[in-house]
Amino acid sequence: MKLCAPNVRGACCKTVGCIYSIRQFYDKRTGLEVEKIKELLKQGNALISCQPTTGFCGDAWTFILYLKARDEGIDVIDILGKGGPCVNLLDSGCKLEEEQRPLFGRSVKPTKIGGPCEQTADAESFVYDCLLFHDRLARILEEYTGIETETYLLDRLKEDSEYLKKKIKNKETLTCMEKEKYDWYINIVNDKPYVDSKFALDWINSCMGF
Ligand code: SF4
Repeated sequence: MKLCAPNVRGACCKTVGCIYSIRQFYDKRTGLEVEKIKELLKQGNALISCQPTTGFCGDAWTFILYLKARDEGIDVIDILGKGGPCVNLLDSGCKLEEEQRPLFGRSVKPTKIGGPCEQTADAESFVYDCLLFHDRLARILEEYTGIETETYLLDRLKEDSEYLKKKIKNKETLTCMEKEKYDWYINIVNDKPYVDSKFALDWINSCMGF
């Protein structure tokens, strides 16, 4: 998770809302707390986003779905991730209690003025958990879109690539998040093989000997 703005107080929260670990909604006895996730989405405090991620079986890529703190003016689904100030940011700082705060916000370790801050949460575990719970978030997404999730995501990826190409052609300024995502999008749409999330999870499990 890259910082795009100078690391002055709250700069990161003004750039984009931070990311939850799906484990924050997991209870050992009862499993994934789907109703809690839906409530958070309904209240307008979180959204579902997605990241094309590579490295499965050669250079194949897949989608990982995740939850993040909602950015101002953004709806319940934001695949491209345009960024913007987080809805939870007040003048006095984050309005969420420490334990309610998304893990990837909580686990950033401030370093020095000008950053970058160190991210102490484990990115590999994050990707693995996203794949493990992919179907559950995909079902919630489908309730909002009415479209099968993989079809929806592939269509949005193509649309978003065209949108970014058009912005560049018109010499419009890309937001920080758009700049970060541009290369992935263009490479992925043009070149690389795609595998679904189940294939990606099976591939990781087989690499780990499960
Ligand atoms: S949830 Fe809190 S810590 Fe995370 S981006 Fe929003 S204001 Fe910042």
